[in-house]
Amino acid sequence: MKKTLILQAPAKINIALWVKHKRTDGYHELSSIMQTISLADTITLKEIGEPGIRVFCENPDVPLDASNLVHRAATVFLDRFSIEPHLAINIEKKIPVAAGLAGGSTDAAAVLTGLARMYDRSVTMPDLMNMASSIGSDVPFVAHGGLALAEGRGEKLSFYEPPRPPLIVVIAVPVGVSVSTRWAYENYHPGNNEAKEKAFAEILHAYRRRDLDALRNLIFNDLESVTLHRHPEVLRIKELLSSTGKGVAMMSGSGPSVFALFADRKSAMLAVKTLHGMPVNVYIEHITRKNS
Ligand code: ATP
Repeated sequence: MKKTLILQAPAKINIALWVKHKRTDGYHELSSIMQTISLADTITLKEIGEPGIRVFCENPDVPLDASNLVHRAATVFLDRFSIEPHLAINIEKKIPVAAGLAGGSTDAAAVLTGLARMYDRSVTMPDLMNMASSIGSDVPFVAHGGLALAEGRGEKLSFYEPPRPPLIVVIAVPVGVSVSTRWAYENYHPGNNEAKEKAFAEILHAYRRRDLDALRNLIFNDLESVTLHRHPEVLRIKELLSSTGKGVAMMSGSGPSVFALFADRKSAMLAVKTLHGMPVNVYIEHITRKNS
């Protein structure tokens, strides 16, 4: 009988992002505090009769050819276990595309873990992480989920228990703005790093304590300087989400999405109201723990 599997692929936010020097391999050395959230794509894997890997997605911004990260992930997995490809992958896209929320990476991670289940292959965590990092820098983190400090190019991960009860996360994405991650990194010029080393340890501590007042004065995303300069509407969204004084707002990844953390839903809804009339898509979500 042909098998079908349905999986959730969660988005991530960067609670903090410190971009260090550019390495000789072209990647930037970075430190980031990453957190998965409840906003997720749904991936359906289906065994099919004809040979090959076919990708389906109704969102016109998502490629359906081999450049889709789910195609890359399936190829990596099936090669690794010498399995003939007879696979259809459907992506139900809820995570905004090219928004700094790791949408493509998390779809790829879900395919890796899903195929292990579908073909009943026991994959150790280091093996999964190796396959994941060959696909993209964010893939190892989203393959595991929860809260992590990511270093190197994002693949060296230390996991922590996320704060409880879960913080509420508002995601606001300006309509008609997309940012290329590559463009943002290429236009970033690292400055003085000394203060950031100390701030980083404090950010993780304050976040885990759910201390939003401390966090407000500590968190930073180095790529904001690049994206906010080019897209002032992203700064405006950040200012509005911060204006009630209840939450902590920051751009995620290379943007343009802005996230804001709140202790409760009421405070989140109050901040969402400030966006009234702005051309933004808004998602009210919460932080999540390790993927099941
Ligand atoms: P990150 O936060 O990891 O930098 P992002 O969230 O900014 O990534 P994605 O949503 O992953 O960006 O999309 C970046 C580009 O990747 C898209 O413009 C699209 O062409 C391509 N892409 C490949 N596979 C996918 C996928 N499964 N879903 C969305 N985009 C994909």
